[in-house]
Amino acid sequence: MAAPVGAQARKLLRDLALRPPLLAARSQVVQLTSRRWLNLQEYQSKKLMSDNGVKVQRFFVADTANEALEAAKRLNAKEIVLKAQILAGGRGKGVFSSGLKGGVHLTKDPKVVGQLAKQMIGYNLATKQTPKEGVKVKKVMVAEALDISRETYLAILMDRSCNGPVLVGSPQGGVDIEEVAASNPELIFKEQIDIIEGIKDSQAQRMAENLGFLGPLKNQAADQIKKLYNLFLKIDATQVEVNPFGETPEGQVVCFDAKINFDDNAEFRQKDIFAMDDKSENEPIENEAARYDLKYIGLDGNIACFVNGAGLAMATCDIIFLNGGKPANFLDLGGGVKESQVYQAFKLLTADPKVEAILVNIFGGIVNCAIIANGITKACRELELKVPLVVRLEGTNVHEAQNILSNSGLPITSAVDLEDAAKKAVASVAKK
Ligand code: GDP
Ligand code: MN
Repeated sequence: MAAPVGAQARKLLRDLALRPPLLAARSQVVQLTSRRWLNLQEYQSKKLMSDNGVKVQRFFVADTANEALEAAKRLNAKEIVLKAQILAGGRGKGVFSSGLKGGVHLTKDPKVVGQLAKQMIGYNLATKQTPKEGVKVKKVMVAEALDISRETYLAILMDRSCNGPVLVGSPQGGVDIEEVAASNPELIFKEQIDIIEGIKDSQAQRMAENLGFLGPLKNQAADQIKKLYNLFLKIDATQVEVNPFGETPEGQVVCFDAKINFDDNAEFRQKDIFAMDDKSENEPIENEAARYDLKYIGLDGNIACFVNGAGLAMATCDIIFLNGGKPANFLDLGGGVKESQVYQAFKLLTADPKVEAILVNIFGGIVNCAIIANGITKACRELELKVPLVVRLEGTNVHEAQNILSNSGLPITSAVDLEDAAKKAVASVAKK
């Protein structure tokens, strides 16, 4: 029976090997924020925003086509924008399983809202950020459309490398920010915020100016940025992303889209927000991994594998099978590694309830083993790791790495080579 599973695993791993490397830009922008499991839909985020003085369009939410039609009539707007509610971005360019193109539609006719909603609700919407088959749409947002004269990008992130919040903005919004970061990095602006002092007027003004808001729009944008920052703090967000953060020909600064992620350690003091959580649409773990420049492949065994490079992943897979075990998943760390990525990797690996042991198999060429070792000990402590951990490190700085692990006082099993590591991991699972 092992052969077919092994073949399936190998295929998955080959896919992993063939995947293009993630844009370095992504890592600059969001890689270092903390784990984000609570995600709200756009309409929920916008409700929080409007309750806190942030400018969003008037809207209703509907879960049937008929309700959408009624909502469109009730809005009594010159133009209406109908938006499918799923957690992934890129909806504008998405495609429904009904054949309908575009998860965001503008129309002046409420009847058209009804017809479009019929082709949205109950169907899957696939975008660049969803799995191939898409995500089922259960709700639509029916909002008053406004003309947009300019689209900018604004996000507030909790950034580990700065130990605090950072404003990230670009005058080139509406589009994929990763693309802007890759092609025009000079158009990405950042403001590090001192969490004790809070956002300074000068910082909000400078960001507004960098985003290209002129004249009276500059003060308005700065005011919105401050309100967004205050909301970010108040609700324990790890990210507030507004794309587009736009302006209208009438001279209004408006948040046309919204994505908020939360710190799940704050659940105890954000009960109302966590109660809104729609658990039926959790982000796939692959997407979550991609945010940290990690590649994740889920399998059906019980040994989580943390490796660097697809070749090592395949070898690890084979040797686990040879020793009578089955991998639960693979997390590929890739090349340039930061300690915080190791921590995120462990969070992702252990999020899978099937996992009964973790096998780390890292070969340090470019990768510095000491960084991995520090990441491992930090993750073990902070995550209060409950499953056996077998570590095989080899290469650059391996002696320092082994000292870090053995002096940590943590129950980490060291392995001399891959064979030894696989045997120990399989044995630790078999013992249970
Ligand atoms: P996303 O594709 O999932 O990021 O969804 P968005 O909410 O950002 O919508 C996609 C695009 O639709 C935006 O970048 C805008 O160009 C456009 N759009 C959204 N709302 C409006 C609106 O009220 N008026 C106009 N004119 N365009 C809008
Ligand atoms: Mn958007």
